[in-house]
Amino acid sequence: MLDEAKRVFEAPTTYKNYIGGQFVEASDGAIITRESPAHGHVVSRYPASTRADAQAAIAAARATFDTGDWAFTYAGDRARVLREVARLIRENADELALIETLESSKPLSAAHGEVMFSAELWDYAAGAARILAGDSHNTLGDAMLGVVLREPIGVAGIITPWNFPFLILSERLPFALAAGCSTVVKPSEFTSGTALMLAHYLKEAGLPDGVCNIVSGTGDPVGQAILDSDEVDMVAFTGSTRVGRAAIAASAGNIKKLSLELGGKSPSVVFADCDLEAAVDGVIKAATINMGECCIAGSRLLVERTISGAFQDRLAGRLAELQMGDPLDPASRIGAIINRAQYDRIDALVRDGVRDGARLICGGDPENHAGLYYPPTVLGDVTPDMNVAREEIFGPVLSVMPFENVEDAIRLANASDYGLAAYVWTENLSTALRCSRRIKAGRVWVNAALAGFPELPLGGFKQSGNGRETGRYGVEEYTELKSVHLQIGPQAERWVEGA
Ligand code: NAD
Repeated sequence: MLDEAKRVFEAPTTYKNYIGGQFVEASDGAIITRESPAHGHVVSRYPASTRADAQAAIAAARATFDTGDWAFTYAGDRARVLREVARLIRENADELALIETLESSKPLSAAHGEVMFSAELWDYAAGAARILAGDSHNTLGDAMLGVVLREPIGVAGIITPWNFPFLILSERLPFALAAGCSTVVKPSEFTSGTALMLAHYLKEAGLPDGVCNIVSGTGDPVGQAILDSDEVDMVAFTGSTRVGRAAIAASAGNIKKLSLELGGKSPSVVFADCDLEAAVDGVIKAATINMGECCIAGSRLLVERTISGAFQDRLAGRLAELQMGDPLDPASRIGAIINRAQYDRIDALVRDGVRDGARLICGGDPENHAGLYYPPTVLGDVTPDMNVAREEIFGPVLSVMPFENVEDAIRLANASDYGLAAYVWTENLSTALRCSRRIKAGRVWVNAALAGFPELPLGGFKQSGNGRETGRYGVEEYTELKSVHLQIGPQAERWVEGA
């Protein structure tokens, strides 16, 4: 794989937009150049598209949707295309993983796992296309049959962030296509390579031209044009709560539907009766996966006071064994941070915490590390009101807070504007169930961290967003319901007397 990486360093890949089935440059020829954060080499060049390019993509999606060719095609045929895309993803998994790693600096093994899981999502969505169904009501009296049709919502815009570029796209795009929508995809300007590679697989798999259009560029103008457009019926936005709010404002124009997957500040809740070894490992995984640049990162550690000291000692010991370094090295668990701005933000929040009275248990001190590598960091003596306990950090930083009992743990877990995920570590079934039911989060893991399945929906409570992706709910998200009232016998009475 190192040889392939060298080849990319010597000859960075140039990508094109995919609009109406054509591979095209930005209309003014402008490009975005992406360097690998870990290596400092240029690895990719994508179109820096204009508002007009985004509008051309929207027009292509609108036109294909309105013909009805994809929307009304037999679901079995849609499923065949999606399954073929899944096959092509698996066939090209090594290359996709390499590009994902070079653009994001996530460890290569993780990138490979994400690509293979993405193929599962395409396969799952293929099956889901065929079971999508409406409803009928045969109980409305002798002369009336009610039929509830489930129809594709129309043109769906899909705007994605940089942290899991291919995976997050695959949690949305195949589901929208399964439902029969036409789509416009806007990947993050930091990591657009794999989305633009996907365009070639869509074409090869036989997806009709114009059903999926992929346009790279910055949030404004490209993402903003999608949000603003009256020709777009729905936008699935994944990213920061800040831009999510802007999406809500922009959607007012044509009252478009929004599915929002936003930020998080998820708790790992550790009870004294847990399997300690498993909990330490799971807490570390939840806090440091993808360098903590993960919406469902377990960035708050709530630990029962009786084991708090011992647990923190074990945590620091195990964290010291976690290998940080070149993401191309198979042994690396922690790669580089996505860019300087994000790196500085992580460091500023850690410094904020220390200034507010938190105790640095391990990590911090990034000056000791060359490049954009931020060491896994644990802060003790954190209180719920501190910035570091409230704000999403998007870095490998864990804030530790002790709790007294189950009710106290639930109260602390819910003391957040966010509600994306929670991790509960206990051997007691009642404790596990009480936490699962009372913690306000879209996903709860009990004695596990981050295991994912295409069958299960994902999404957030509170300011983490609304709507659900994946699972059968993920396809339904991209549909509208229509009630059809069928008069199947003589009308009992006329509206106009005597008619
Ligand atoms: P971001 O909000 O800056 O950008 C996300 C996407 O929105 C990018 O494609 C960006 O170009 C685009 N964008 C920016 N401004 C826009 C505008 N005015 N109009 C339309 N689009 C615009 O987020 P990010 O920095 O890429 O990602 C990090 C954030 O994403 C974190 O807050 C994280 O929690 C969140 N996230 C959430 C989930 C989830 O499923 N809940 C998953 C991953 C990331």
